[in-house]
Amino acid sequence: MDLDSPIEKNFRIVERQKKALKNLGLKTVRDLLFYFPSRYENFSERKNIIDLQQGDKTTVYGKITDLKSERARFKKLHYTQAIISDFTGNIKAVWFRQPYLATILKIGDKVALTGKISLGKNGLYLANPTYERIGSYEDLGEGASLLAIYPETRGISSRWLRFSLDKILKNITPTSDVKDAIPEEILKTYHLPSLKSSLIFIHTPQKISDAEASRKRFAFEEIFFIQLSRFKERLQYKSHDSFAAEINDKELNDFMSIFPFQLTSAQKKSIGHIINDLQKTSPMSRLLEGDVGSGKTAVAVVATYAIVKNGWQVAYMAPTEILAQQHFQSFINYFSQLRLTTKIGLITSSECKKFPSKISPSEATHISRNQLLKWVENGEIPILIGTHSLIQKSVKFENLALVIIDEQHRFGTRQRAVLAKEKSDKIPHLLSMTATPIPRTLALTIYSDLDLSLLDEMPAGRRKIETIIVPPDQRNRAYEQIRQEVKEGRQTYVICPLIKESKLEVKNVTDEAKRLQKEVFPEFKIDVLHGKMLPKEKERILRDFRKNKINILVSTSVIEVGIDVPNATIIVIEGADRFGLAQLHQLRGRVMRSTYQPYCFIFTDSRSPRTRQRLKALIKAKNGFELAEYDLQLRGTGELTGNKQWGISDIGMEALKNIKMVEAARLESQNILKEDPDLKKYPLILERIQKQANNIHFE
Ligand code: ADP
Ligand code: MG
Repeated sequence: MDLDSPIEKNFRIVERQKKALKNLGLKTVRDLLFYFPSRYENFSERKNIIDLQQGDKTTVYGKITDLKSERARFKKLHYTQAIISDFTGNIKAVWFRQPYLATILKIGDKVALTGKISLGKNGLYLANPTYERIGSYEDLGEGASLLAIYPETRGISSRWLRFSLDKILKNITPTSDVKDAIPEEILKTYHLPSLKSSLIFIHTPQKISDAEASRKRFAFEEIFFIQLSRFKERLQYKSHDSFAAEINDKELNDFMSIFPFQLTSAQKKSIGHIINDLQKTSPMSRLLEGDVGSGKTAVAVVATYAIVKNGWQVAYMAPTEILAQQHFQSFINYFSQLRLTTKIGLITSSECKKFPSKISPSEATHISRNQLLKWVENGEIPILIGTHSLIQKSVKFENLALVIIDEQHRFGTRQRAVLAKEKSDKIPHLLSMTATPIPRTLALTIYSDLDLSLLDEMPAGRRKIETIIVPPDQRNRAYEQIRQEVKEGRQTYVICPLIKESKLEVKNVTDEAKRLQKEVFPEFKIDVLHGKMLPKEKERILRDFRKNKINILVSTSVIEVGIDVPNATIIVIEGADRFGLAQLHQLRGRVMRSTYQPYCFIFTDSRSPRTRQRLKALIKAKNGFELAEYDLQLRGTGELTGNKQWGISDIGMEALKNIKMVEAARLESQNILKEDPDLKKYPLILERIQKQANNIHFE
């Protein structure tokens, strides 16, 4: 079987399956081979329905003998109910909010339902079980007692996958089809199975320990190759020439006195690292990692100054227009205090601006994109701040010496490669900044190409935030407390998951703002902010909020990144179960920017123990780093968002729970590159990381 041929050439599939495969990104036979089960069903431990007990977490096998789907009278909640029967008895299964189920399941279907057995008024039942249709009971067995269960998708069943993989596995040859790129000595050292065995173990294990060994191997493999390619990139990056700045200590110190505050010692230390790097001929490649509100912008401002002083240019990239606007304004505030006027440009997809305006020198003015691009290209504008628009081809610099990426976790990681392709033969220094504290294992992996500076200290006088989970019957008490704070001059954010009304039972910005104005806070000025508004509108709202002309800002999570309004000290979060822990922490960070006491009210009516547990972690964690660790431990397989955020699969994320494995991968990848930087002795590794690099797409 040719592993690189399309799936439909080797298997007969219907349209529905074709679609499902496409959604999963599975094109070739090889893709299928590397599509791994999420868990295993131990078939030999199967219980008959009559033997089920309350609290069992199990899979029930049987036939659907009754099925109905309707809206419940009281809460208008949609539910689907089925009766499952085997030869020993019946059990009820109930699904809420999944109306499409009624069109998928049919009376007479044989199914495997997995979930927890609960006790209701009318006996035992399964609530929201995951389901899989099965052909006949015998299909399940075939001698193996462990059955691979693949991540659920509509259209493609685990049964089909098991069948197909069985066929593929019988036809692969380790020498030509699946060559193992991990050197044998490494496999031996860490007792990892070979690629071929691992593939067999993971899809068709005889015992659970085999499956575990192979998951461990794939986890190691993923982390190992990520690190290897990052280290290699780092070597390459560092081998270029960059702009070695001349920096005068006295001038730098004078400059730092423009801040209306004392820099923290963590800020000073980080500035020290950066200034040191900027003086070298090899390019800086540094990550500034600091919790929300720790003052990363000030550090970036100092680095910018050092470069501009040398007559070179700085590009500062932010993930949203709102944030780019805000930075543009703060750079103007800082740099306009210097005697020499420094020109600053702003570029986003909707507008371009320049500071200072010819007519009123203390203000910025709109200019055409062409004009701005011209001035950037001839070097007249030394500081350019912007969004993604900054990295378009049309933006050329005269001598770009420093690239700053704010909230870099928001960008694809490789943006800087684009910025680095300048016309000059030198490449710019890079300063990446992130506020999403991530677990150490993850940092060691995805940032192995960067040096690290930590802002592990908050500016003086900050108070610990009070995070309060508010049950529905306490809502009014919370509102009273907010009223008090606002009366004293403070400001409040109210975060809703949605912009407009929808079928979902969660709050939306539009209606909630109206309700609060009418029913709760008629005396306050309330306004809204969300991503769908025009840039001008957004800008106006934020300006008014900054000037305290708006007391309460009802917003979506667009304010999550970077917004800095120190006088806002309260944040209300509606529908908190719809946000990830890191996101909640980011949101909470919006109100931890002054010496006033900050509050975070979390409104939730969820009684799910998992939600509770997660929210408790939020209260308990002293800082974002601790929270990130909790988050990693709390999440189960299949819910890790690594793939989306960092390009790491669920298996790879599992590896990140294991610091020993991450360190081993780090050690081995470094050793290989030390011994053989061009990977001449490791053609398979080279091929693999080149492929990896090609898979990264630029926007
Ligand atoms: P972040 O690290 O989240 O990007 P910012 O750079 O936006 O944080 O800074 C948060 C707030 O703290 C801003 O209002 C900033 O002016 C203020 N700030 C920064 N450094 C200090 C400091 N050393 N002392 C007091 N306030 C500071
Ligand atoms: Mg910031």
